[in-house]
Amino acid sequence: MSGEFQRIRQWFLPLAQPAANPPAVLSNGDDALAVRTDETLVMSVDSAVEGTHFLASAAPQDIATKALRAALSDLAAMGARPWFYTLALTVPDHLPDAWWSAFSAALLAENHHWSFPCLGGDTTRGPCLVVTVQVQGLCARPLTRSGGEPGDHVWVTDTLGGSAAGLQHMLAGEALTDSLAEAFYRPSLPLKLMQRLNPRLNAAIDVSDGLGADLSHLLAASECGARVDLTQLPLAPELISAYGREKALAMALSGGEDYCTCFTARPDQAEEIHRAAAELGTPVTRIGELTAEPGLQLHDNQTPYQPDWKGYDHFG
Ligand code: ADP
Ligand code: MG
Repeated sequence: MSGEFQRIRQWFLPLAQPAANPPAVLSNGDDALAVRTDETLVMSVDSAVEGTHFLASAAPQDIATKALRAALSDLAAMGARPWFYTLALTVPDHLPDAWWSAFSAALLAENHHWSFPCLGGDTTRGPCLVVTVQVQGLCARPLTRSGGEPGDHVWVTDTLGGSAAGLQHMLAGEALTDSLAEAFYRPSLPLKLMQRLNPRLNAAIDVSDGLGADLSHLLAASECGARVDLTQLPLAPELISAYGREKALAMALSGGEDYCTCFTARPDQAEEIHRAAAELGTPVTRIGELTAEPGLQLHDNQTPYQPDWKGYDHFG
């Protein structure tokens, strides 16, 4: 037991940096933390499970970074500013101190990168590693999946398919290139852009299960359809040359874990969207528009597109 306290003191209590803004009433180390805010509090929790979300052999810094960013991605999609997170860990017995040191150092680097301290958590023993991150953010008005209107432009940030390509490489036992490792472990997250654009947008969702599935969730919530032009999809670099166009499109539409954001806005917002994206250095691409007619219609150069890969049915 004393070993566990020692571990918490050494590796996790120091993660209450940088100071939360607004500051916590009571930070980490007591039975609970306490905070106060006048803004709307936006919360989301995500678990990363060994064998499901990452391989047991993955480097501790990669597991830490991806678990945190996957959770933060939901705050990006809500147009919220990251405030603080809590961290629940289920830990197998065999992990050495060097592993914890690297895990903790990677989280601390993330904390400073996003101004996002860890203000509490829980540590328990278990048969495999599970990293659960609960994120808290603030905003005036959370963006939702349900606000889309027919005629809205549909946009997506960053690029699609890179994470799926990274996974494919790893499963085939191949080393990851730098850009695939970035896409798989360190998605860039459009947090600043989504906060800036929040008042101008109608609906948003983060792309965690593949654009096809996630856009379909937005369409269901907004009670409308969409027409998407596949020639406009921002495919990750080298995706087509490595896999061919059909497979590249499949990875972009159904691959998952890209952690970019898909959002919709009235056409008269397009200029401001491009301006904010250019100022903040976050790529945005207009990929289609919302329609009154339900369902997701994919078009490839004006021709209706019928993918021949599995997963399409799930688009609903
Ligand atoms: P309790 O028995 O009240 O749950 P714990 O022994 O679990 O307390 O935790 C002691 C303190 O250490 C708490 O303030 C808790 O927030 C913090 N803590 C425990 N595990 C973690 C963790 N993985 N990350 C951050 N803080 C942690
Ligand atoms: Mg506890």
